[in-house]
This record gives sequence, structure tokens and C-alpha cells, in this order.
Amino acid sequence: MACDGKGMPTRQARGGTLILGGGFGGAYVARYLGSRGATIVSLENFMLFSPMLPEAASGMLEPRHCVIPLRMMCPHAELLLGRATGLDEETRTVEVETDSGTHAVGYENLVVALGSVSRTLPIPGLAEHGLGFHDLADAIRLRNHVLRRLEAAAAVLDPAAAARELTFVFVGAGYAGVEALAELSDLVRDALRYYPTLRDVPQHWMLVDAAPKILPEIPSRLGEYAAALLANRGVDIRVSTTLESAMPDAVTLSDGSRIETHTLVWTAGVRAQPALEQLGLPLDDRGRVRVDSLLRVEERANVWALGDGARVPNEATPDHPDPPTSQHALRQARRLARNLTGEPRPYRFRMLGQVATLGRYKGIAEVPGLRLRGFAAWWLTRSYHLYQVPLLSRKLRIVADWTVALLFRRDIAEFSILQRR
Ligand SMILES: Cc1cc2nc3c(=O)[nH]c(=O)nc-3n(C[C@H](O)[C@H](O)[C@H](O)COP(=O)(O)OP(=O)(O)OC[C@H]3O[C@@H](n4cnc5c(N)ncnc54)[C@H](O)[C@@H]3O)c2cc1C
Repeated sequence: MACDGKGMPTRQARGGTLILGGGFGGAYVARYLGSRGATIVSLENFMLFSPMLPEAASGMLEPRHCVIPLRMMCPHAELLLGRATGLDEETRTVEVETDSGTHAVGYENLVVALGSVSRTLPIPGLAEHGLGFHDLADAIRLRNHVLRRLEAAAAVLDPAAAARELTFVFVGAGYAGVEALAELSDLVRDALRYYPTLRDVPQHWMLVDAAPKILPEIPSRLGEYAAALLANRGVDIRVSTTLESAMPDAVTLSDGSRIETHTLVWTAGVRAQPALEQLGLPLDDRGRVRVDSLLRVEERANVWALGDGARVPNEATPDHPDPPTSQHALRQARRLARNLTGEPRPYRFRMLGQVATLGRYKGIAEVPGLRLRGFAAWWLTRSYHLYQVPLLSRKLRIVADWTVALLFRRDIAEFSILQRR
């Protein structure tokens, strides 16, 4: 085995292409490269299909079914499970920490797709008491937490304490926050049939956002429909409002209110993966790798970047770079794989539409020439997501979960025991 200058074992990336990150961007580049092969470095051995994360949090889907094992999704790629910690552009090697030590991996072309992390703000108590909603562990933790609140409410004798347990505050009214709130409130509604002593305890679901409306990404009329639907279900929507502080049993808001709660979920946007700072590549003011229209890192001949961690110019939307969505990461991956194997061409993608679910049987969708809401939008959103999931075996597992959910009541077992070990 060869060694680099620091004595680390060195290997060469399969097919000469080294991909950092096995999420939407990285995994799809490897998949589109097909039999040319690539080496993927990733923290997990699966790609998370994040559009289905809210359903995993509510137990509608088995969490394992909303991830796709990278070795199955990209059978021609080599997977190195580990953390990319450094880049040496002179020797064209990346340092990777794995469970079996640190390795250097050589490349001819490097693709950087390290994604994003939750964007937090320096709000007192947020880091200690807020629950994130960004990855699979967050979804599982949130489900356990919510079910545990029901158990806590059933255990107390004081009605005010029970009401505090059934108060759930979500900060961030973009897709992730709205979909997570809608799914989890369905979970609680279904679960409460098994808690007869809680029948008369009021639930309080609250959605807070600094912006003047919820779901600012979608056309106003659909956003208003979503807001009206949530309000009809009793959700207390506070727009133009910010979280001021969080304590173990309460939060305070900028409108002066103090809400007694044990549940604060923070879904207020994402920021580029901080690990990108260790690579020495040009970053913009939001920590994203700067790339040109070919998806090539500025002033680099053989380093490329895409996804949430890159500032990607799009010829179809010249006035703004791509937003952090899987829809965009997937199209960027397709163009990048083509640019690696043929004559590089600029990236160009016009969004096909926007879809979201608002809990069971309700949704909103805007596709060319069509604006849908209610059941039709819910059905379209689910069908679209199912179509997007790679591998037939994964699609079938998801359909099986959905079918079981139609026929049987929701599972209400909670596994916070795993977090305590
Ligand atoms: C709750 C939620 C719901 C969403 N719903 C939708 C939706 O409905 N529709 C939509 O279009 N988009 C949705 N998104 C956005 C979408 O998930 C992202 O835009 C997409 O995943 C970006 O792809 P990516 O490859 O840049 O990053 P990711 O998919 O996050 O992948 C990043 C990869 O980098 C790896 N990594 C990180 N650091 C290192 C390191 N140091 N070394 C090695 N590997 C590392 C990670 O393990 C991961 O594999 C949602 C996001 C969230 C959080």
C-alpha cells in the first residue's frame, strides 16, 4: 500500500473520481457515472430521502425505508465510510478519518457535496432545549420525544402540567416545519385514542416564523390555503414573530408571550456544512463553495461542487443561485456527471413545480398549468416522491408501509430507551 508524505495509507479513487458526501448530490453523481465508477466518502452508508423525513417522524413510514443504502443505489461505486477532514490540492489527495484510521485518497476529479446543517441563531437556551429536524436521527428523536410527552401528560395529576406536555412549538414555517408539524399532530391525534385520561386536556400546536407568512417559497394563494387549513385544525400560527428565549419548560416570543412547553422544534433553515471550511476552497459569505456555470469550483480545473453546500448559478434563473432543495441537487448531479464524462456544458434547470403534504389526505401542489390543494395535491405529492425514490425494492417497502397505515392503527411504541444507553 502506498503512503502519502504524512505516512498515511493512500488509495486512488475508483475511476479517478472522488465524491465527498453521499447525500442527494453526491450519491446521484455516482449513480449517473454508472460503470465508470467513483469512490464516495460519506458519514453514513445510505442516502437520506429527506422529503419523506416528516413521515418517518410521525411513524407513517418505517425510518429505515426512507433511506437508500449507497452500496445498493450505486453498485459500481466504492464506499469509504468516514469524515473528509482535509484537502491537499498539490498532491490531489483528501484526508479521510475512518473507524480504522486516517487514509489519504487520491483523485483526478474531486466532487464536493457535503450538504448543509441546521441554521441556528444565538438565542438563549435554543442550543440546550431546541430539537432539530434535519436528519434521520432527528426524526426518530422527535417521534420518541412527542410520544413521551403523551406518557408524561398521562402521568401527571395537575391539568395545567398535562396541558404543558401537550403544547408543541415549531419555529420555522418553511416546508420542513410545516410538514413536520402537520404529520406529528396527526400522530398525536391518532395516539390519543389510547390515552382516555387525556381526552379533555387541550392540545396546543404553535407555528412561529419571523417572515410575514408561512411557506414563503410557494405562491400566495396556496400558502394562504395551507395557513387556513392549519388554523382550522387549531394550529396557532404566529408570523412576524421570533423566538426570544428557550427554557426547559417554556419559551418566550417577540410578541411578549410566554408559552409553557417541553417541546421546541427548530426548523428555521439551513446553512452550508461547516466542514467545508477545512478544505481551503473559495466560499461565499454563506459558507457555500463558489462554482461556475459548469459546476466547477472557481479557479480550479478538477474540483467540482454541488448541492446545499455550493452556490450554484443556474442559467434558467440568472438573478439568483439555486435554492437548497433535493430537486435542484438531483439535476445538478446529472449535469455534473455529464460534465465529468463529456464536453462540459452549463447547468440549466427550471423548477417543475412545488409540492407539500399537510398531514393525512391534505396537501398543496403547483405544477405547470395546475394548482392543486386538498386530497388531489396530497396524492400527487406522495406519487411524485415515490417516483423519485431510487430502487424498486425501496419503493415497494414504502408502498407497503402506506398500505399498512391505511388498514391498521398507528404504532405508538416509543424508543427513547435507545437514546439513554
Ligand atoms: C426535513 C427536510 C425535508 C426536506 N424536504 C425536501 C423536499 O420535500 N423537497 C426537496 O426538494 N428538498 C427537501 N429538502 C432539502 C434536501 O434534503 C436537500 O436540498 C438535499 O438533501 C441536498 O443534497 P446535498 O447532497 O447537498 O446534501 P445532503 O443530502 O445533506 O448530503 C450531504 C452528505 O454529506 C455527508 N457529509 C457531511 N459532512 C461530511 C464530511 N465531513 N465527510 C464526509 N461526508 C460528509 C453526509 O453524510 C451526507 O451524506 C429537505 C430537507 C430537510 C432537512
